[in-house]
Amino acid sequence: MTTPVPVDPLLLRMTLRIEHDIFLVRQRGREVAAAVGLEHQDQVRLATALSEVARDLLGVAGGADVTFVAVLHQPGPPSLRVDLAPLRPLPDGRYEPRSGAVARLVDMLGVVDRRGDTVVRMSRRVPPSASALTPERLAELRAQLGRTAPGSALDELALQNQQLVAALDEVRSQRDELAVLNEELQETNRGVLALYNQLTEELEETNRGVVALYAELDEKSAQLRSASEAKSRFLANVSHELRAPVTAIIGLTRLLADSASDPLTAEQTRQVGLVRSSATDLLSLVNELLDLTKAESGRLEPDWAEVDLRAVFGQLRGTLRALAKPGVELVVEEPPAPGTLRSDEVLLAQVLRNLLHNGLKFTERGEVRLRAEVREGWWRLSVSDTGIGIDPEQHERIFEEFYQVPGSSRPGGTGLGLPYARRVVRLLGGTLELDSEPGRGSTFRAILPTGGA
Ligand code: ADP
Repeated sequence: MTTPVPVDPLLLRMTLRIEHDIFLVRQRGREVAAAVGLEHQDQVRLATALSEVARDLLGVAGGADVTFVAVLHQPGPPSLRVDLAPLRPLPDGRYEPRSGAVARLVDMLGVVDRRGDTVVRMSRRVPPSASALTPERLAELRAQLGRTAPGSALDELALQNQQLVAALDEVRSQRDELAVLNEELQETNRGVLALYNQLTEELEETNRGVVALYAELDEKSAQLRSASEAKSRFLANVSHELRAPVTAIIGLTRLLADSASDPLTAEQTRQVGLVRSSATDLLSLVNELLDLTKAESGRLEPDWAEVDLRAVFGQLRGTLRALAKPGVELVVEEPPAPGTLRSDEVLLAQVLRNLLHNGLKFTERGEVRLRAEVREGWWRLSVSDTGIGIDPEQHERIFEEFYQVPGSSRPGGTGLGLPYARRVVRLLGGTLELDSEPGRGSTFRAILPTGGA
């Protein structure tokens, strides 16, 4: 058994024959639209579309039968449908409203086939709030529509005028709203522009600050550079100026003590000896200062050549052995074959001599050892001793100029040997490391590339 499809209820039927009927169709159309719950605007839209189509059909088809149906049982939302069945067939079975804008007043406007007849149909969706069109309500509507007597053409005209005024009002209020919005937009634009200008200004201000800061920084580093150069120049000049007189003093003391000169008293001999040893200390200080300033100012250029470590070690062994105190042994190991590296022989020997000298100076018992080994393509030349050692806190400080660990100073020390050694090792492409513990001794290690810097 199939359930019968419910029929959409017919709300009103009327005929369009004469000019006056156009007003009636319009008027009733609005009433039906209001009755099914269309909003005021939509009522006017539907009524206007209806009167336009009615006028057209009166012209081309001599009139039409008009039916209003509440479409409730079709797929989609409920709507109000108006069919206008023309009295005479439409030319070519087609219909185009004279004004194209009419189609926009409703949801659908067009020609359809209704059970073999061509009808012009328009429909407008009913809002959800009005969708409670129960059969009882519809019956009531039908009765109500049947009861209301159509007004005169004049009434309809007056109503139409009212609607026009209302529409004009609405247009005006929309225009006012638009003007307000425009004003607000301009205000916002002005605000954004002001903000943008402010930000740009702040950015420029910051940029100016940064630029000034950089300029100051440049100036400061230039000042620093020139101060450091001035210091080096001063040290170099003073050392240079001192070297000649000090050498002369040493020569004089040697002359005075010479057996070929007039004999001196014992006291004079002692005093001349003191002068000579002080002058010798001064000369070594002057020489070290000169070396260091030369290395610092970048004027020290290594003389690169193939250096035979065995020869260097042999020479050091020979010259330094005499400095070892009783109870301290100087051990210079044989470097492993082939024992060569690309370096500056004089500078390398100077660094090793310096380190060995320190080892011998700060070791009272045990040994000072020089060893060479190759590890991962690098020479490791280490000078280790069993001397007093150095507190870890002092490990970096002893590489500063003139720094001596408090309480450790020995005669003839200047505090310039290690900073110079580190600079030279760097110049030769390597690094100078230190392992040391107080009381257990120290190891200074020069790590140098086998192939030169
Ligand atoms: P100098 O030896 O002329 O004082 P250096 O720059 O060679 O200057 O050394 C700085 C200081 O580092 C030394 O005064 C000493 O305190 C410490 N020092 C250097 N070598 C050793 C070492 N082998 N053992 C212990 N202390 C050392």
